[in-house]
Amino acid sequence: MYPFHWVPTNASRHASTDRRPEGTLAYPTGTAVTTLCGLSGQVADNSELAWLWPSCPECYRAAVEMARATVG
Ligand SMILES: [Zn+2]
Repeated sequence: MYPFHWVPTNASRHASTDRRPEGTLAYPTGTAVTTLCGLSGQVADNSELAWLWPSCPECYRAAVEMARATVG
């Protein structure tokens, strides 16, 4: 399990290390999240369309680094 989760917000798919609400697999729409690229107070959009938004390049880079660190 990686220490981050993807979250569509602000027209991109960002990643966050915020805790998700108990029993959920994604941040419910309206959840305030802080992203790996440094945006805070972003509002998650868990709609089907939002998941098609492009990945934030900064969050992608940070997520890959975290994933590598986790595997090792
Ligand atoms: Zn981001």
